Order: sequence, then C-alpha cells, then structure tokens
Amino acid sequence: MIAIKKQNAAKNIAPKSIALFGATGTIGDNALSLISDYPHLFRASLLTAQENWQKLARLCHQFHPDVAVIANPAHYATLKEAAPATTRIMAGEDALNEAAALPCDAHLSAIVGFAALAPTFAAIQAGHTIILANKECLVAAGALLMEAVATHHAPLIPVDSEHSGLFQLWATTQHNPPATVTLTASGGALRDWEITRLHDATPAEAIAHPNWRMGAKISVDSATLMNKGLELIEAQHVFSLAPTQLDVLIHPESLVHCFITFADGAQLAQLSIADMRLPIAHALYYPHRLALNLPPLSLATVGALHFSAPDSARYPCLRLAHHAMQTGGATPLILNAANEIAVEAFLQQRIRFTDIAPLIEETLAIFTAPSPQTLDEVHEINHTARELTLKRIATWNHS
Ligand code: NDP
Repeated sequence: MIAIKKQNAAKNIAPKSIALFGATGTIGDNALSLISDYPHLFRASLLTAQENWQKLARLCHQFHPDVAVIANPAHYATLKEAAPATTRIMAGEDALNEAAALPCDAHLSAIVGFAALAPTFAAIQAGHTIILANKECLVAAGALLMEAVATHHAPLIPVDSEHSGLFQLWATTQHNPPATVTLTASGGALRDWEITRLHDATPAEAIAHPNWRMGAKISVDSATLMNKGLELIEAQHVFSLAPTQLDVLIHPESLVHCFITFADGAQLAQLSIADMRLPIAHALYYPHRLALNLPPLSLATVGALHFSAPDSARYPCLRLAHHAMQTGGATPLILNAANEIAVEAFLQQRIRFTDIAPLIEETLAIFTAPSPQTLDEVHEINHTARELTLKRIATWNHS
C-alpha cells in the first residue's frame, strides 16, 4: 500500500482540497477512505452532515478540515464543543449553501435526496469542479443545473457507477454519437422474491443489497428500480440524450455498469468490480487513474454474466420514471418528491413496499405544474408534491 501511495504521489503538488457534502454517508465513507489512503493527493477541506454530529466530530479529529457544517442547527453547540478548535463550525441550511461557495479544488455532492440541490447549485455558481454522486438534484432540476454548469464553466464529473462508466466511454463517441445507451441494474435486494411476497417486504429486507453497501434511501430505490429510473433522467441531462436513446437491463453481477451501442450495432461496455471507491477515485483524480489497491475483476473467476429485460410487473417505479423522463418539465421533479416521501414512509413502516409505486402514481395524476424556470419555482413544486404525498399517506389503507 505504501509503495502504491509513493508511486501515485505527485511530488511537490499540494493535495487537492475536497469539499465533501454528505461526509457521514456511505459515499462519504468511500471518499474519506480514499482521502486517507492518498494524503499526498487529496485533503478533506470541508465536511458536512445533517444530524450525525458525533461522526462529524470524529471525522474532524481525523481529517482536520478547515470547515465543518451541520445542517441541523440544533447540533451547533455540541459539535463545536466536540470538534477540534482549528475547524470552523457552521450550522443550518443557509450555512450549507454559503460553505458550498468557499474555495476548494472539487465539490463532492453526496448529500442524499433533494436537499443536495441548493448546495450543489451554489457550488456550480462558484465555478467549482462538481463531483456528482447525488442524482436527485439532476432529476429535480436538470435543465437549470446543466444551464448553470455551462454558464459558470463548472466541470461536472459523475460518480454514479453507470454514469462514471459512460463518462469513461464518452471519448469514443466524439465522431459517432451513440445510437443508444444502456444502464445496468442489479435488480435490488428483492429481485428473486415471488412478486406476490413483495407486499410483505420489510425495510431491513429491502435495503439488504446483494452487491453494494449504500444508504437506506438509495437501497430502497434500488429494490423498486426507481434508482435506475432516476439514473436514466440523470444520464439524459449529463450526456444530452433523448429519452428514446436510454434503456435499462437487469444484470445481477453488477460488473458491467453500462454500454453504448453505435449505429452499426457495435457495443462498448465499461466493467469493474462493484466498489464505489473506483468511480470516486476516477472522478477525484481525473484525468489520471490511481493504482488502487482493490481486488482485480477476474472474468475467468466470474465465469458468466447475465442480462435480462426488467419485469414491468415487478418494477412499476421504472415505468413511472420512464413516463416522467418522456414528459419532462416538472414531472421528474414531482416524481422525485413523491418518491422521497414514499420511501421515507416505507422506511418508517407507515406504508408497505408495494405502496410506493401507487402513491407516486397518484401524486403524478393529481398534480401537474409548468416547467420551473427558477430554483424558487423548483422548491415550490417540490414542496407541494411532498405535501400532497404526505396527505395521501395519512389516509392510505395499507392493510
Ligand atoms: P447516506 O444516506 O448514506 O448519506 C447521506 C448523507 O447526506 C449523510 O451525510 C447525511 O447526514 C446527509 N444528509 C441527509 N439529509 C440531509 C439534509 N437534509 N441536509 C444535509 N445533509 C443531509 O446516502 P448515500 O451516501 O448512500 O448516498 C448519497 C447520494 O449519493 C444519494 O443521492 C445517492 O443516490 C447517491 N449515490 C450513492 C451511491 C452509494 O453507493 N451509496 C452510489 C451512487 C450514487 P447524516 O449522516 O447526518 O444524516
């Protein structure tokens, strides 16, 4: 490991300062493990959390960031007391946005859900390099975000494994735009369950992902395949693709992350082991590659790779996401808001796993809005969609 560190150490170059938004989550864990393994290359200059001030305080002692932000202001005093005096402590949602504009070499957007939108937008407006793990912000406000990326010349490097794969393949499309782009999906924790049993799936069962260790929300999204639907919309924005160019295949091994199909039928795929440190390291060190100390992908050991079309009866959320992507405007934003509320209600055991899709479908049916032109309008539509879904959950018969 030390030899690898030395091999990769860029001599006499200051480590890249990384502002890590969502430091206490699973993407945060993976990013911090890379930062800790390659201190010559990367430094955590800013760390944030929502509630988990204890972990944030521990990380401050370990990584000595210049700034730490706790989004829930109720934890300000306790965090300040527990963190080293050399770290400036900020608190509250506005502080998150203010901190996002502070100088850094890269902004890693790894807060879960819609909450990432405002700080990511602020970082784009500051012209920072955006390393994007969060997908909900692009689903909610893709057109506005990508417009801001262009206006402020903020480079955007995706970290989602499928989008990182596409990003790596994209150079091959320079003279030949892709005919189609396929994202793969593991199928989630309940992939092999009888459809009739899904009704009884508990949160613990739905988040027990077979291939990836991820936060609770994305793990449930993975089980419903909403995650893949959100990723289609993310790919649409990041790679300027038409909805008709985007497709999904179930691939239980999670080794082929995506592939591009060209006009002549040739396909190029990106493969790697299922470990988020790979795409994060690719984004952090781009355009170079780190000699990561991870197990190699041995196709001989794997032996066989499997692919199948997603079953629409098992995964109704994918159909809803397709509909939202094709409709465009405010529909993906409403879809995302309803999904966040429904997933939260499922995790709190207020609704069943199989209630998630019908709840989202109802919100989409009763609420339409014009395409948002500003961030304020995005927030307004998001708020209304959440309130409507919450109201419906209150009277939902989930027996
Ligand atoms: P986690 O739930 O593990 O972590 C979420 C992070 O966001 C935590 O630091 C949490 O703080 C913080 N947070 C939660 N709510 C708020 C809020 N309202 N305001 C500010 N901060 C908040 O999520 P993941 O790391 O799994 O995922 C993060 C994002 O990356 C998601 O958008 C996900 O879709 C995407 N992603 C994740 C992958 C993965 O492998 N995990 C793969 C690809 C994409 P606290 O701990 O204090 O609650």
